[in-house]
Amino acid sequence: MENNSVVWLEEVGKEDIGIVGGKGASLGEMIQAELPVPPGYAVTAQAYRRFLDENGFADKLFRTLDIDVNDADALNGAEKKAKKIILDGKIPPDIEQGIRSKYAELCKKEGHEVNVAIRSSATAEDLPDASFAGQQDTFLNVKGEDDVIDAVKKCWASLYGARAIYYRVNQGFDHRKVDLCAVVQMMVDAEKAGVMFSSHPSTGDGVTIIEGAWGLGEAVVSGVVSPDYYVIDKGTKKIKERRIAIKNVMHTKDPKTGKTVNLPVPNDMKNATVLEDDEMLRLVDFAEILEELYGIPQDIEWAIMKGEVYILQSRPITTIKKKTELIENNLTSSSSLLLQGLGASPGSVSGKAKIVSDATELGKVKNGDILVAVMTTPDMVPAMKRAAAIVTDEGGMTCHAAIVSRELGCAAVVGTKQATSVLSDGMMISVDGEKGLVYEGKLDVVEKKAIKAEMPVSFARPMQITATEVKVNVSVPEATARAVQTRADGVGLLRIEHMILGLPKHPKQYIKEGKKDEYVSELVSRIQTVVDAFYPKPVWVRTLDAPTDEFRAMEGGESEPVEPNPMLGFRGIRRDLIDTEHFELEVMAFKELIKRGYNNIGIMVPLVQHPSELRRAREFMREKGLDIDKIDIGIMVEIPAAALIIDQFIAEGLDFVSFGTNDLTQYTLAVDRNNEHVSHLYNEMHPAVMKLIEHVIVECNKAGVKTSICGQAGSYPKVVKRLVELGITSISANIDAVETVREMVARTELQLMLKAARERKD
Ligand code: PEP
Ligand code: MG
Repeated sequence: MENNSVVWLEEVGKEDIGIVGGKGASLGEMIQAELPVPPGYAVTAQAYRRFLDENGFADKLFRTLDIDVNDADALNGAEKKAKKIILDGKIPPDIEQGIRSKYAELCKKEGHEVNVAIRSSATAEDLPDASFAGQQDTFLNVKGEDDVIDAVKKCWASLYGARAIYYRVNQGFDHRKVDLCAVVQMMVDAEKAGVMFSSHPSTGDGVTIIEGAWGLGEAVVSGVVSPDYYVIDKGTKKIKERRIAIKNVMHTKDPKTGKTVNLPVPNDMKNATVLEDDEMLRLVDFAEILEELYGIPQDIEWAIMKGEVYILQSRPITTIKKKTELIENNLTSSSSLLLQGLGASPGSVSGKAKIVSDATELGKVKNGDILVAVMTTPDMVPAMKRAAAIVTDEGGMTCHAAIVSRELGCAAVVGTKQATSVLSDGMMISVDGEKGLVYEGKLDVVEKKAIKAEMPVSFARPMQITATEVKVNVSVPEATARAVQTRADGVGLLRIEHMILGLPKHPKQYIKEGKKDEYVSELVSRIQTVVDAFYPKPVWVRTLDAPTDEFRAMEGGESEPVEPNPMLGFRGIRRDLIDTEHFELEVMAFKELIKRGYNNIGIMVPLVQHPSELRRAREFMREKGLDIDKIDIGIMVEIPAAALIIDQFIAEGLDFVSFGTNDLTQYTLAVDRNNEHVSHLYNEMHPAVMKLIEHVIVECNKAGVKTSICGQAGSYPKVVKRLVELGITSISANIDAVETVREMVARTELQLMLKAARERKD
């Protein structure tokens, strides 16, 4: 392609990444392959460069960026100054004319003034295909030549947003060598839209997965709405699974203002299928073409308007995880064992170590790196998603890093005591998340021959039906899709504190700023992601159980009390019964979800030690207007006291109990669950722990109260076997353990039936 300033997308292809960036080049490739991509044009990186040169402000601009990016004030100051320089600049007249005339041509072709989206497609001189995804801004529904010119400038200016400046410095990019192409593309007023994976995103199995909802795809991509979920066999084109979600909201264009708005879905469409069979098959055809075009499985954004399918974006799937193990016989002297810890989440990978001491350093962690930290915190979750593995100094099998990496499906070794001092930034290491080992150097990773039980569920295998329900635990909404794929009988534990800890500020800060409603709606949307995805299966939502030390790290969390031992402190229901202002907001969130029709919610009260706590919690919820008679309410059995006087809890009245063995073990054995120095004494199968559990199951069975387990021990086959023999009602396991647990439950039930049959015969 000629080195022009403003070019039609169909004029560019993969060889033009240096001119139009990765996104622009991919759109061009797809148009050339005659895929239905909305028409548009690119204001190239060269146009942007000329804009800088002809205004003569490049030096001044880059000097403003010469700051310490860890100094938040300096960073914000640099953003302001740099953006002003760009916005005050004058676009060279021929480029401005090019932008205007191509927009006019688009309108002419469509027969009316069109709405366009203006998206950034950055490019780096030395590394043209570097990914700057999500660092710059997108402008939707822009209309009219003047507004388009304005939005192109704003798009260029977004290259100097604080986040983008910070990211480039941390990734080692020279600001002077990064340019920005602005893609101007016709908006698709989608009636329905979503995403699809041309192959299974975690196993690579021979299926295409489509997710779709009403309106613009943004709602699906951002997770605001739970989409319908369809699985189609790539070979036979048979629809293997079709899960229709309740779709309450849709993003759509307001016909009056032309702006994107969030509207309730009309009642008759809420439970209706988004895609008809023929639409699904058309989408699958496109997925096949795109996988063929790029040679690797694709993650595709699609939309349907007036019956026509549009492809909005396609990029490689990066999450396919093969069942792997390290080849131990290629251990050499240069790949010696560096660290030993607990194998907290299976998987074997090699990658560069990136030591992260707090959230400001998260930009260091690129796709495929190994995140190393003293302990992970909830604000690290975005970087944990990019990481191939996690290694920590502290923690046991139930610490934050262990729980979240199991949910995200990435390998983890925790409690190594010294990872942050032994490892250094950029060092190549290999991690065995099953055995808890970290080696120096890059070991070969091979696909496992045998299918190990902890690996993701295969859609090809028929599911065993068990009398004892097998449920799944969820802590971060990002794990919902993986959790649903287990086909569990519901969620036996939804930890809301992980959702709260993932918010930008402490709940008290929302309250202080008079933004209670905003906080409640954040809670509602996060919980809804899960209750919606599992509807109508039950989801037991646990009220807040966050230790003060974790909450203190949040913005506005300074007032959290400093406690000598947070594990024995201000957490669980004891906290909510004192901080009733927060408890009330939780209740408001539950009420809103019930109002939205989610009758599958149960409420679980954590860390109770006396029946009066359950009584007060129930009274409070009733006082605040929650119709608790229509909701299952239960307790976590985590404190030995609760187990020992379970009869008194039963007399108080409750629908279920669930064993929180992570805490029950630490409190029974006096072993801090997060303390790697005593982790050798931490044993969920200790006879004292098992005796407490047995007592509770026997008493509850007599009274007809349901029993369950949601601690980590519920993922251990040996414990599961014993619990089924004792007559537990359900087991709630980690995502990666659901299938093994289901097998163990089924086998134990068969053995019990066989035994009973034999005894009858005798
Ligand atoms: C438990 O204690 O077993 C439990 C499931 O709760 P958490 O791990 O969140 O304390
Ligand atoms: Mg607990």
